[in-house]
Amino acid sequence: MNKEQLQHIRADFPILTEKIYNKDLIYFDNAATTQKPRCVVERIENGYYHLNANIHRGVHYLSQKATEAHEAARTSVAEFLHAAKREEIIFTRGTTEAINLVATSFGEAFCKTGDEIILSVMEHHSNIVPWQMLCERKGMKLRVIPMNERGELDMEAYKSLLNEHTKIVSVAHVSNVLGTINPVKEIIQIAHSHTIPVLVDGAQAVPHIPVNVVELDADFYVFSGHKIYGPTGIGVLYGKSNWLNAIPPYQGGGEMIANVTFEKTTYNELPFKFEAGTPDYISSTALAEALRYVQEIGLDKIAEHEHELLTYCTEKLMEIKDMRIIGTAKEKSSVISFLVGNIHPYDMGILLDKLGIAVRTGHHCAQPLIDSLGIPGTVRASFAFYNTKEEIDVFIDALKRVVKMLS
Ligand code: PMP
Repeated sequence: MNKEQLQHIRADFPILTEKIYNKDLIYFDNAATTQKPRCVVERIENGYYHLNANIHRGVHYLSQKATEAHEAARTSVAEFLHAAKREEIIFTRGTTEAINLVATSFGEAFCKTGDEIILSVMEHHSNIVPWQMLCERKGMKLRVIPMNERGELDMEAYKSLLNEHTKIVSVAHVSNVLGTINPVKEIIQIAHSHTIPVLVDGAQAVPHIPVNVVELDADFYVFSGHKIYGPTGIGVLYGKSNWLNAIPPYQGGGEMIANVTFEKTTYNELPFKFEAGTPDYISSTALAEALRYVQEIGLDKIAEHEHELLTYCTEKLMEIKDMRIIGTAKEKSSVISFLVGNIHPYDMGILLDKLGIAVRTGHHCAQPLIDSLGIPGTVRASFAFYNTKEEIDVFIDALKRVVKMLS
């Protein structure tokens, strides 16, 4: 991406011109949430000003228009993920709710005492706790794929964990702490050779790399709207229709029913079976706008620019004495976790903030991973396509000052 294109893109994000403590904001916390382009915010505003009516079954004009917009958003998401059928896209509140949905409904239909679930050591809490809750309910066990010192999954260990008790494999496409891009296609192929389904947590993948769920052959693929420049409160569960048809509804209520009597309720068809209650039809349409926006820039172009930022920042960080980068996988997305000497990550984060730089510190909702590394947490800088090398220069200078103060 050249300078002009970058300036053009940055102008779409009003928040990037904010001052923090009188300093230019440098926003390097994109793995936690991304900033929103003007078109997404305008879509929300336009939705509430001009298109607001409860969707589905409304006979009046506004309800029909809102329904059309919500269903068009579903089609946009299906196209974005290259799903085979639009009804395989379920709107949820986010990645967390999508995983809870699968853990609950799949668990109800297919799991029993003594069964096992395979996760990896680098999972976010939202891809651990719902499965752990299922294990507690049913008397099952979690099995964990370990990783090497670079933060790459040990595929031989993974193969040895699969057995006749394994019911599902659930892994992150990209680690939110290490940046590792996991070989999910291979993970899926191996699981499928044992007829075991796989859920892929794509929260950190979809904003950075093109995803094709059919090519991956994923059984379930989940992500959050807010991490891909869309609104908060909306996310996606993609599921192969044979799985979604085979598992029971997650929540009961309006929309998800076909017929209700006090004696018996029958359920609606896909995707509505999993969308109880009034959906967030304003956010779904704004998410579709965000997807349109990133596709217009081009995911390949985004990946290329972010990779340049990753390489540039990694090289600059390595100039700092006692720098330790946590996560040095060959395949990495634009997330850098690090520590310097014995300085506590929290102290670095606080001082960087005072210089206008937003980074994240702590366990990043991946406490088992941080514990396994025997560290107190990390400082994490994560980049989006609107970040620049100039911002990295300012960050590195600031970090050098901070390290000097704290050493
Ligand atoms: N999985 C991963 C890998 C994540 O990075 C996150 C968010 N940090 C989540 C799941 C949870 O996403 P959300 O809070 O939007 O549901």
